[in-house]
Amino acid sequence: MPVPDRADIPRYKSCDLWLTGRKTVCGAYSESVKNSSQTTCSCRELDSVKLSYAQCCQRFHDGRADGSVLPETAEELMRSRYSGFVLGLVPYLLATWHESTRPQELDLDPQMRWAGLEILSTRAGGAQATRGVVEFAAHYVDGGNAAAQHEVSTFVREADAWFYVNAL
Ligand SMILES: [Zn+2]
Repeated sequence: MPVPDRADIPRYKSCDLWLTGRKTVCGAYSESVKNSSQTTCSCRELDSVKLSYAQCCQRFHDGRADGSVLPETAEELMRSRYSGFVLGLVPYLLATWHESTRPQELDLDPQMRWAGLEILSTRAGGAQATRGVVEFAAHYVDGGNAAAQHEVSTFVREADAWFYVNAL
């Protein structure tokens, strides 16, 4: 892992939790993820332009180990959290959850069959913003029936890192 330069330290620190959990995640998901780089990112399944996982959320999930980047916008963080849910990346989900609302632990339902993400609207949350709101529908299949979780989520940016805060 490269040593972060001085300007990079606050960003690096905000990812400590993620890096701490990295080993577990690598063990759990590396095999399935390694071969899915070129397939459509799960957050883009419903988009007309289908970005691959490598072009979309993978760099965020990979964290800082290779000097890659943090999401620049609230929407990017939202997308990477959705694909994180799909891939079962609990440490990433916790690391991108603001500490004021972050649960102690997170149990994901392995039976959950996510079917795609629709970003319905965004407010603020740009590269220069410190707050953002993203309205989305996360589609899933429940007992053979299509269903969706509709949520308006709020995000804050601290030391260059976006965090999910809560649902309005
Ligand atoms: Zn994505």
